[in-house]
Amino acid sequence: MAGTVSDKQGSAATRNTIQRALVLEAVRSLHDHPTSADVYEAVRRTYPNISRATVYRNLGVLANRGDVLRVEVPNGADRYDFFNEPHYHAKCRVCGRIVDVDMPYESDIASKVSDAHGFAIEGHEIIFDGVCPACQKAGA
Ligand SMILES: [Zn+2]
Ligand SMILES: [Zn+2]
Repeated sequence: MAGTVSDKQGSAATRNTIQRALVLEAVRSLHDHPTSADVYEAVRRTYPNISRATVYRNLGVLANRGDVLRVEVPNGADRYDFFNEPHYHAKCRVCGRIVDVDMPYESDIASKVSDAHGFAIEGHEIIFDGVCPACQKAGA
């Protein structure tokens, strides 16, 4: 009885590990800051039976573990980034495209905050707004 239970747990754990690896592989194959829906579509192309909930759950786990970076976009869906070091982004206000900007990460920026109403500051993100080259060309 105990053996049966532990076998079940073992295979479930293995399945979770495999599914998480599939999701991680998909994020690493997408270099344009995909949404969770984009990642699901990418995984499904190879593994049509995987559920949306499974992909989303594993994205959450990977982001919480720091294996991928979650980019929280104001007024937009969260994006996921295979490049998991802290870095800054720019968002096109026309097409919504998110790109990395080449700018050193200010790890000590919190020390410059003199009044945060008692907040223990743990991090920061910067998303620059603008228009991407393609949309500029299209005359947006
Ligand atoms: Zn654009
Ligand atoms: Zn990025």
